[in-house]
Amino acid sequence: MNLQNKIALITGASRGLGKDMALTMAAHGADIIITYQHKATEAEAVAAAIIATGRQALALQLDVADTTAFPHFTTQIKTALQQYWKRDHFDILVNNAGIDAAAPFVSTTEENFDRLFQVHFKGAFFLTQQLLPLIAEHGRIINVSSGLTRFSTPGYIAYASMKGAIEVFTRYLAKELGHRGITVNAIAPGAIDTDFLNAATAAHPELKNYLATQTALGRLGVPEDIGGVVAMLCSEEGRWITAQRLEASGGMFL
Ligand code: NAP
Repeated sequence: MNLQNKIALITGASRGLGKDMALTMAAHGADIIITYQHKATEAEAVAAAIIATGRQALALQLDVADTTAFPHFTTQIKTALQQYWKRDHFDILVNNAGIDAAAPFVSTTEENFDRLFQVHFKGAFFLTQQLLPLIAEHGRIINVSSGLTRFSTPGYIAYASMKGAIEVFTRYLAKELGHRGITVNAIAPGAIDTDFLNAATAAHPELKNYLATQTALGRLGVPEDIGGVVAMLCSEEGRWITAQRLEASGGMFL
């Protein structure tokens, strides 16, 4: 896999899956722009780790739920592209930033629903729209979905609905952007051991073991199970894959 001369923008890469995507893509030669919401120190550490390997990297703050911030963010990206790379375009956009907010149907509040909608769907939709003029021909867009769109786990009705929406968005966008050679795919991780899963299982730590027993490969996923798959989709080898939902779950709930 070779991602040399590629620039990837990954949202929510201060921790968890996004962090591993950033480190893995950088290890394959890409330069990386990451975003974070609150954890500036963690994000700066990710950028520093990439720079230490000889690649270029920077970390920018962005709340993906706040569409009013997108024009300013886009200007920041344009400026950074000129300043660091003397380029007008970047190559890879990964819509990864996400939050957990579990509740059964009967107690899902409108507030939680709206928050999940803004972060997981509306944010990804309009951030992609805003950034599209800056994405190079033959670029890549990866949207992060979830195994929860295939199997139904109590508490995830609203979250999984937003992820289902991002999968439909992925297929439509692939059709609309095909003439520019841009591929658009959704990656659907199963349960991955990150802060996100730790928060979800905090009240019932035994859930992690249960999830491992429901996984064909016999363990929980780790971020390193996902970063390489995203890198592959973004590489030249992934050029003929578009409009797909690729599940990387170790075979959960088969
Ligand atoms: P995580 O470890 O909790 O990290 C979440 C990342 O998203 C952080 O970088 C966080 O920034 C950022 N973020 C959260 N809300 C944001 C907002 N409003 N605006 C901008 N950035 C925001 O989560 P993760 O497990 O890596 O999850 C990453 C993605 O994978 C999410 O879309 C999630 O739905 C999806 N996913 C996760 C799992 C799993 O089991 N872990 C499974 C399937 C899919 P700060 O660090 O600044 O807070």
